[in-house]
Amino acid sequence: MLHRVLLNEERIKYTWNKGLAISPEKLEEWVLFFRSKKMDVISLDEALVRCENNDRRKFVVITLDDGYKDNLTIGLPLFKKLNIPVTIYISTCFPDNKTIYWWYFLEEFILKNNSIDLNSIGLDITFRCESVEEKNKAYNYIREVLRRADYATHVNFAHKVCGLSDLEGLNKKLNLSWGEVKELSEEPLVTIGAHTMHHVSLANQKEELAKVEILQSKSEIEAKINKKVDHFAYPYGSLDDGSKREFFILKKAGFKSAVFNHPGSLFSVDGENKFKIPRMGLTDETSKRKVVDLFEGKVHLNFNGVNKTIC
Ligand SMILES: [Zn+2]
Repeated sequence: MLHRVLLNEERIKYTWNKGLAISPEKLEEWVLFFRSKKMDVISLDEALVRCENNDRRKFVVITLDDGYKDNLTIGLPLFKKLNIPVTIYISTCFPDNKTIYWWYFLEEFILKNNSIDLNSIGLDITFRCESVEEKNKAYNYIREVLRRADYATHVNFAHKVCGLSDLEGLNKKLNLSWGEVKELSEEPLVTIGAHTMHHVSLANQKEELAKVEILQSKSEIEAKINKKVDHFAYPYGSLDDGSKREFFILKKAGFKSAVFNHPGSLFSVDGENKFKIPRMGLTDETSKRKVVDLFEGKVHLNFNGVNKTIC
């Protein structure tokens, strides 16, 4: 799982969000590493076929979440050079220029301030954040609260806590436009998937809202790219961001797969398993040992014990 492809000098400017981007050099190094270990880099559709056929060959599927512009400007030339298929999951708030980058705003606010107070947005949370340790604690705690919050809370956080007003300018700079999403969708190496409308944690919203977020993101992207959208990624992707309720909605909507951001092994794509596919984030900092362990099942064992499913 990737989000952004950024030059290293840009990537290292971030603190907690550094891992959201991978440098082109590192991505190339990873792909060469996979190939040296006889792991095929294949498309998500091919991976599902291989699983259904009990094909034992090892493979890697590369996916990017959200819809960042750098996927096109820096990512695409590299995907072509390396000849790697990728799936890009789009939250429609990205090309609609309505993204609330609360994870970046929270990082900037905590780095610049010595305290943070969320009472103005209805959350009884205050933190001192003077020392590095306090800042780490505040970021990690508030990230978990905001991850589960609704879109209106994200908007209020940006305006009332961070005092930000011109969010559209930032959106236009960072987000793929609909024209660019269409351009990517026409590339043979690229598959476009859905990632909700407002980048919310589905299982933490009311059922009716979760349904709208799934169905409307699918239909809006399909209308814009004039292609069917078969694959889905849960925003944030922890195990509490998607549940049986979402597996059912996705299946009924005609999706073929859905991915978490939780490491594990895929034992079968029968039944609901294809709606809870595990993934592992890959960054410049990820160790090769961790990836080898993943392919040997050790990462799955650490996270999930001997349970064969990840949920
Ligand atoms: Zn996302």
